[in-house]
Order: sequence, then C-alpha cells, then structure tokens
Amino acid sequence: MKQILLPAAMLMVLLSSFGLSATAQKKSRILFAKNPIVAHRGAFKKNQLPENSIASLRHAIQLKCTGSEFDIQMTSDDSLVINHDPHYNKLMIEETTYAELIKTPLSNGERLPTLREYTLAGLKGNTTTRLVFEIKPSKISKERAQLVAERVVRLVHQLGAAPMAVYISFDYDVCKKVKALDPQAHVQYLNGDKSPEEIKADGLDGVDYHYSVFQKHPDWIAQAKKNHIALNAWTVNTVTEMDWLLANGFEFITTNEPELLAERLQQTPPAKGWRLVWSDEFDGTGLPDDSKWNYDVGGNGWGNRELQYYTRADSNNAVVKNGKLIITARKEQREQNSYTSARLVTKGKGDWQYGRVEVSAKLPSGKGTWPAIWMLPTNGKYGGWPASGEIDIMEHVGYNPDTVYSSVHTKTFNHVKGTQKTKGLLLGTADAGFHLYAIEWTKNGISFFVDDQPFFSFRNSGKGAAEWPFDQPFHLLLNIAMGGNWGGKYGVDENLDTAIMEVEYVRVFQK
Ligand code: MG
Repeated sequence: MKQILLPAAMLMVLLSSFGLSATAQKKSRILFAKNPIVAHRGAFKKNQLPENSIASLRHAIQLKCTGSEFDIQMTSDDSLVINHDPHYNKLMIEETTYAELIKTPLSNGERLPTLREYTLAGLKGNTTTRLVFEIKPSKISKERAQLVAERVVRLVHQLGAAPMAVYISFDYDVCKKVKALDPQAHVQYLNGDKSPEEIKADGLDGVDYHYSVFQKHPDWIAQAKKNHIALNAWTVNTVTEMDWLLANGFEFITTNEPELLAERLQQTPPAKGWRLVWSDEFDGTGLPDDSKWNYDVGGNGWGNRELQYYTRADSNNAVVKNGKLIITARKEQREQNSYTSARLVTKGKGDWQYGRVEVSAKLPSGKGTWPAIWMLPTNGKYGGWPASGEIDIMEHVGYNPDTVYSSVHTKTFNHVKGTQKTKGLLLGTADAGFHLYAIEWTKNGISFFVDDQPFFSFRNSGKGAAEWPFDQPFHLLLNIAMGGNWGGKYGVDENLDTAIMEVEYVRVFQK
C-alpha cells in the first residue's frame, strides 16, 4: 500500500495534468442533488449499517443526498482507511498496520475500507452525491496530517473524483494545504473558531460548524452569504434544528437522519410554493429592530378593561436576546395601570394582503395573562372595529392554560354580538414550549394551523365586506395584555410579578 511521495510542487503539476477535463467528469454529467442533505458517515442510522461503511455510503447515494461524509485516517504503514475514531477495535490506527487492522471486519461483514475502495464505491453510478472527505488531524504530528492531506488530494485526482469532492477538516492547516495543492478544490473548515470573513481571506470555501456556533454567532450566517462562503452545519438530528437551518437557507446540513431531513424538506413553505417576503429571526441583541417594529403605547384599557400600560421601546418589556424576542409584562404601577407590557406592531413593509403568516412562540403562564398574536387592517377601508376585520392567529388566557384560540371578527361576526368565529385547540404545552402558530390566507378563506395541523378555517361567503373584509392589507401585532374582559375573567394572580412571551421568529410568505 506504500506510494511514492512527491514533493508538493510536483504534485501540483500532476494535478493540473489531470485537470478538470478528467474523463470521469465528461462521462458522468454531474448534477448534484438539489437538497442540503449531507449524510454524516454515510446514511447509516435508519438501516443500522456501520458508520463509514461502503454500505452506508451507497445508501446515501441511493437516497440522492447532496453529500455523504466520511473520515480518513492513516495507518502506521501509510494506508489511508475510513474510520471515525482514532482507534479501531481498540487499536490506535496511526500505530497499527493495515494488515493488523483488517483482521476484524465491520459489523456488516465489510472489510475496513481503504480510501481507494471507498472513493471508487462512491463514484460508481453516482452523479448526484458529493463525496465529503474529512481529513482527520493526526495525533502524532501536524506534519503527518499534512502528508495525509497530500495523499488524499493525489488519490482523489488519480481516481477522477475531484469534481465530486468536498474536503473538510478540523485542522486549519490541512484545509489550507488542500487548497494550496488544488485551488479548484472545495474546502470547508470544521472547528467553528473562524468567521466567514477569515475563511474567505484564507481562500477557503465554506464553514462547516456545529449548529450551536451559528446560533451563538447569527451574524456569521449573513456574513457567509455576503462573502459566498458555503454554510454547512453538523450534526443536526432534531426537527427543531433542521427547521432553523432550513429557514436560514443553509446550503448543507450534515445529519445522522437524512430520511428525517428529507421529510422536513417536503414540509417547508418554500417546498409548497411559498416565497418568504418578510421575516424577523430576532438574531440581534437589544431593542427590537426599529425598521420592522413600532409600538402601540398607553394604558387606557384598550377597550377591554385591560390593566397594563404598553411602553415604547423599553427593554424591560420588549427585548431581543439569545435569538428570541422576549415580551415581558411586569407588575409595576404606570399612571393608572398596575402592569407594564409591550405591544409590537409591524411597520413599513410589514403589512400584507394574503399569504402565510407564521409565528413560533412560547406563551406566558399565570392567571390574568392574555397574550395574542394577531392582525389588524392597515387602512380601515370598511370603517372602525370590527367592520374592517380582525384576524386572531392565536390568543391564550392564563386561567385556561391548556387551550389556544383562533378567531376572526367582522361587522357580522364579532365578540360584541357574540357571533365571532372562533375555535379552541387543546394544547397542553402552550406555556411549556414553542409552537408554530400560522395562518394561510387567500381570497377564498383563512385557515389556521398549530404546528402545521389545520384546526379551523373561515371561508369567504362572497356576501361582501360585512362578512369578508379580508381583501385588504393587514399588519401583525404581538402583545401580552393583563386582566381585561377575557384574560381577567377570573381575576389576576396577585403573586404574578412577570409574565413572559418568547418569539423565535415571525415569517411571512406569499405565492
Ligand atoms: Mg466526520
């Protein structure tokens, strides 16, 4: 398995002679799968295949993942083999010969694959799935990792795999080495400690970081896109994180659950033909973005004998932190009111006629709270409330914590007459976790969803504005009221000092 080692300069000449006109590329007409799914160590989990086995790689190709990742180590006698851990069957790979290692097969009977075998298996009949070569740092020396990098790049070119290859490593010098050897190579760094601007400055192509790194540095997402640095996140195995990354437009998502991610992709609004037209992911820190949000201010009871005073731009009542908008109602006197709170209103381009509006939120708890996610008409074309309509995407009252409500109000149907159109949904965990509250609104009707389950719809009767004033632009409101005709029906818990609603994001889509 020994190969003659060439100096880097000679290797460059060798690589350029293979060039990009390699026959493999001509024959295969590569069209990478148009999804972000990178199977981590192959698609191993669902079918209980060994990680990093050829079987798991073939399955990832069968699933048409856009990439399949695998880990490369070098044995003591310089064979490149595929294994995640530095040891295999309790033997340190870097200190063990290839012949010794292969005495023990993988759990499916496969022999521990060499890089050559693995790459050839990955090229066979594959026109969709990138081969993601992870070059492991050496425990022996930095120089040894450089040597592995050289050998991997050379073998990739010898086998005609360069057009299918993505290189990744935790060792930054390995990343730079690969790029120096093959300036056409696509190289992503794994360790999470370099900004996309630094990556660009060093000539690399992508950031492939643990997803928590992007949650801690949300500005790196925009920075990467601006600088054309590919975004990849590992190892993403839960729906919550998948949805977050999909919404943020990640090019690659590395997962042990490629089948689950494929399912999520079918569920996203863009997969259903919706186009994102407005959003706030609440990625900053401090007051809400004043290009997107206004405040309703004051404490006159708001027509419902409510107890709170709504403040303007006061971070005690509305603040963005840890990727969320936090609205806090506080027990504190302001003018004639015994509570302060916030009522945020979308402004500027934040009004829409028709579309899908979705808000991921965790509701407050406590008797007397009355949070709402709702919409009001921007122009009031059909007259004052309720003639021009109201759409309550979600309302919740603290005395009945297990139920959320959706309603519409119009001139004909409203709560003053007791004719409003309303439906409740039993949802025991509204104040314990985040749920997605959404509407899909067309000229024919409004459908209401919780966690993508439809549970209520209101149709356009065709009888005019008294029943259907919803042919005008509406804007969005987010607030916590305290007490009031509905929220305070059974009083307010005197011991409740704060009530908090958290909002992960607001997204508005149109077709
Ligand atoms: Mg890996």
